[in-house]
Parts: sequence; structure tokens; C-alpha cells
Amino acid sequence: MTHVVTDNCIKCKYMDCVEVCPVDCFYVGENMLVIHPDECIDCGVCVPECPAEAIFADSDIPSDSHWLGLNRKYAGLWPNIVAKSEPPPDADAWNGAPNKYAEHFSPQPGEHEGSDERPDPRSATEVAGSGRSDIRAAKGEV
Ligand code: SF4
Ligand code: SF4
Repeated sequence: MTHVVTDNCIKCKYMDCVEVCPVDCFYVGENMLVIHPDECIDCGVCVPECPAEAIFADSDIPSDSHWLGLNRKYAGLWPNIVAKSEPPPDADAWNGAPNKYAEHFSPQPGEHEGSDERPDPRSATEVAGSGRSDIRAAKGEV
């Protein structure tokens, strides 16, 4: 179980969600954020914080949706983000716009601004020692 970021984050990217996540599992692209499914503890506190209402439990989206796979893929490619920075100046104008993924999704990574000192998520060796044990403990797995 995890939560996932979906279409309406694209070009809104308000980043209120990153401030409340207890395990810092958001990753930043050029124009949206994603959640790492293996790091999210499914607490749900980010959901009401998102002005774009773009975050859902994976159990609340269609099983054939591409959003879970997209969150997983890009959480492995984009930098971690733990603090809010300036949202796009036209974020409010894009809130609720249709077909954002098809027309506006960018696979490019976002800036590291607001990121902490965590190691690059692409380094599997370093990630293994970057708090996963704490996350598993929070999940009751250890
Ligand atoms: S608060 Fe919502 S719109 Fe903003 S970055 Fe987080 S998921 Fe995207
Ligand atoms: S559900 Fe909780 S752990 Fe998962 S991304 Fe949201 S705030 Fe973070």
C-alpha cells in the first residue's frame, strides 16, 4: 500500500505535501512530484495538504492506472525533496486543467532546491543505508 501523485500535480507543483511527509518520500521532477512506493508508510497526511487534490491511496485509483508505475519509475530517477520552495507562478491557472499528463508531463528531473543531504536515490548502495530500516520499523516489518 502506498499513496501516489497523479495528473493534477503537473504544472501545479505546490509542494505543500513535502512539508508534512514523515518519511521524506517525495521526489521532484521538472513540473511535478512523485512518491516512492517503497518508502511511503501510507499515513495519508499529505492528502488534505495538496491544494490540487492530486494525491490518492493506490487502492483508490483504477488497478490498470499507470500512476503507480510512474511514481515508482521517477522516484528512482528524480532527486529527493524535503522542503517546499516557490511553486510555479501560474500554478493556480493550471489547477484542474485536463489531460495534463498527455500534454505537459516532463520526464526531466527537478532542481535540488529544498532537498536535504540524503544520498542520490540512484545509488542503490547508499539508499540501502538511508533510513529504509527506520521506514520498515514504522511499517511494523522489523
Ligand atoms: S501538494 Fe499536490 S500539487 Fe503540490 S507538489 Fe504535492 S502533490 Fe503536487
Ligand atoms: S501518505 Fe504519508 S508517507 Fe506517504 S507520501 Fe503521504 S505523507 Fe508521505
